[in-house]
Amino acid sequence: MSLIEVSGIDRDRIVDEHLVPDEYFCPICQYLLWKPRSCSSCQHLFCEKCIQIWIGNVNSANRCPFRCEPFEDRRCPPYVQSMLNRINIHCRNSSFGCDKVLSYNLLEQHENTECEHLTQQCFDCQKLVLVSKLNEHQQIPGLCIPYPIKCTICQNYISKSLFRDHFHQCCQMKTDQLMDQRYQDEILQTRTNDQLQPPINGMELIQNRIDTIQMYEHQRHMSRLPTTLKGVDEVRQKIAIQS
Ligand SMILES: [Zn+2]
Ligand SMILES: [Zn+2]
Ligand SMILES: [Zn+2]
Ligand SMILES: [Zn+2]
Ligand SMILES: [Zn+2]
Ligand SMILES: [Zn+2]
Repeated sequence: MSLIEVSGIDRDRIVDEHLVPDEYFCPICQYLLWKPRSCSSCQHLFCEKCIQIWIGNVNSANRCPFRCEPFEDRRCPPYVQSMLNRINIHCRNSSFGCDKVLSYNLLEQHENTECEHLTQQCFDCQKLVLVSKLNEHQQIPGLCIPYPIKCTICQNYISKSLFRDHFHQCCQMKTDQLMDQRYQDEILQTRTNDQLQPPINGMELIQNRIDTIQMYEHQRHMSRLPTTLKGVDEVRQKIAIQS
């Protein structure tokens, strides 16, 4: 499995991206989920490629990015797929003149075969290049400048010799970051639940009324006993005489 990936679909290419919930963006690469898979334990969704790279990495120790262990791959729920299919996306070749907007499920076919401005990712520099200009791109000096490898996780370009080490560190940092986020989310969730809960629900209200009535009756009953200091003193005197 290659660590070099064609860039995912970023928010700029999504029509009405603000309507797409965060869950539809991959926690590993941050792009829109592509061929999503889910973790059977935590239900988080990941791009198929991203989670494969993640699990294939020695450091991940077969744990999902949220530390579920062992990671069990599950297919993405149908409602997620149908939600994704409703998203409209600009063709990746817009900078070459394609102004087509396609639904999620039709995008791949358009970009790979139907687009009037077909591009291919150059193996050496990883840039998108018009297929018709690929020979020119690779032959004319200065057009193809080999780039370092792009890290799927942090999106930085890292030189090839440092890439393995970087990627392992990046996985570790990402796990820590995701766990922190999850922890923060849980705290937030707890607080929100507290606020949403009405202070007294129906049953408690009734129980409170019953308690209040019983308290009044108890007080009335108690009031038959000597309550004045004098009365109390009389009782004490009687006890003192008896003993
Ligand atoms: Zn927007
Ligand atoms: Zn991803
Ligand atoms: Zn998980
Ligand atoms: Zn196109
Ligand atoms: Zn190139
Ligand atoms: Zn990285």
